[in-house]
Amino acid sequence: MADDFAQLVKQQVDIVRIVGDYLKLRKTGAQNYTGLCPFHKEKTGSFSVNATHGYYYCFGCHEKGDVFNFVMKMDSLSFPEAVRAVATKAGIPLPKREFSSPEEAREAGLRRQLIDIHEAATQYFEAALKSPEAARAREYLTGRAVSAETVKTFRIGYAPDDFNHMRDALKPHFAEEVLRASGLFSAKDQADGSPGSMYARFRKRITFPIANEQGKVIAFTARALEVDDKTPKYLNSPESALYTKGNVLFNLDKAKAEMRKSDFALLVEGQMDCISVYMAGIHN
Ligand code: ZN
Repeated sequence: MADDFAQLVKQQVDIVRIVGDYLKLRKTGAQNYTGLCPFHKEKTGSFSVNATHGYYYCFGCHEKGDVFNFVMKMDSLSFPEAVRAVATKAGIPLPKREFSSPEEAREAGLRRQLIDIHEAATQYFEAALKSPEAARAREYLTGRAVSAETVKTFRIGYAPDDFNHMRDALKPHFAEEVLRASGLFSAKDQADGSPGSMYARFRKRITFPIANEQGKVIAFTARALEVDDKTPKYLNSPESALYTKGNVLFNLDKAKAEMRKSDFALLVEGQMDCISVYMAGIHN
């Protein structure tokens, strides 16, 4: 990423608006905004953002930096990725991709393709929920009073009872490396230690996509239609280059605007709980 593009983004972007996407800021001076620091635990706001000079500083833990440092820390991004993320948030068109090392380019490339394969998988599961085979899954959702609109909003889907179909459907569009890194498939190692052929991790399950804060699907949790001793009720994607379990909160992407508005969040235990309160009109 060329440095002059980063400079251009920094000049055009309003750091208060970008930081305000992550935490609640209130105006405390002509150019100063204050909020609760996201980098240390505190009850009174010592996190300060200066609009004119485009930097933030925490009087509690002394974290400081510009808009890119902030987004890098919050979203675990590299510098070039943070520049792109901030530019996208601010609606500034991106130049052609440039990375400082081939390794960095490869990793960013893999992450982009993992986002793409999760989107493809989401669409695959959504389509499968409409198939005749998914009658029982639809019955389950109806039984839990999940409306068609809610199915659409949360992009609920169905993983068919089939080891190979999804892999064969995605194979023409994604490299083997991406399929293996996605966590959507399992494979047993062969006798010589090389990975064996892949098969669908999620089968005969209702699928709930887990999105990152930008609303991109990065993992799934899937509920079994039939639970027995050998079948866990819920099965999740393994951690991947996109997905770190402890860092992602289900539905935060859709809830964050409402959370900011109402100034509190309602935290529930499971996806279905979250979807139920959402249907009841509680969106924060
Ligand atoms: Zn702090």
